[in-house]
Amino acid sequence: MKEAKHETSVSSRKIIHEILPVGMLQCNCSIVGDTQTREALVIDPGDEVSRILELLRKHQFTVKAIVSTHAHIDHVGGLRKLREATGAPVFMHADDLELYNALERQAGWLGMPTPGITEVDTFLKEGDFLRWGPFEARVLHTPGHTRGSLSLYLPQNADRVTLATPQLFAGDTLFAGSIGRTDLWGGSFEDIMRSIRLKLLELPDETVVFPGHGPATTIGQERETNPFLK
Ligand SMILES: [Zn+2]
Ligand SMILES: [Zn+2]
Repeated sequence: MKEAKHETSVSSRKIIHEILPVGMLQCNCSIVGDTQTREALVIDPGDEVSRILELLRKHQFTVKAIVSTHAHIDHVGGLRKLREATGAPVFMHADDLELYNALERQAGWLGMPTPGITEVDTFLKEGDFLRWGPFEARVLHTPGHTRGSLSLYLPQNADRVTLATPQLFAGDTLFAGSIGRTDLWGGSFEDIMRSIRLKLLELPDETVVFPGHGPATTIGQERETNPFLK
């Protein structure tokens, strides 16, 4: 419902980050764009593609890539429409393709109409980089919530830009005060704990975390207070 905008100054240019909770499950869709090149990345366009397109137009952004952190319907429902409207390639982890192809079943469980399915242009894996504008995000494979769950990490210092803080797009792996559920298809509690401990808690405390649902947090805050990480 409410859109939140984070404008962080980076060396002589600004990163524009629009967060729109979309759809019935209020998945946080993020638009991360550069004020100079007008290039943007869209993360988790679960639904309400017309609102996403409206914001892209408002900022005059060209979408370089569309990424789903995992293939639950609330994170992939808008992929087809957004890909058709922008011509941008769709990225996800190959281990979630089976889940994506079961979109009709997922819709059935929630009692909602099945959104269209699109082709996935590129499969991401651990250690890949996504580059747009001056930005560079590293792909972390963080299985547990689903087999192909991804997190995207923007370090504070990259070749072409310095951010105010490092940033993490955590999908449904880590939330403020909680972790993703592991009782759904392909979920594993051991895997999600291993992913969080080995990959996310390795990141600097000041890393701002944008989860797939709910408010932002930081790695330091979760390390200190998240009851699942005691
Ligand atoms: Zn999910
Ligand atoms: Zn979700």
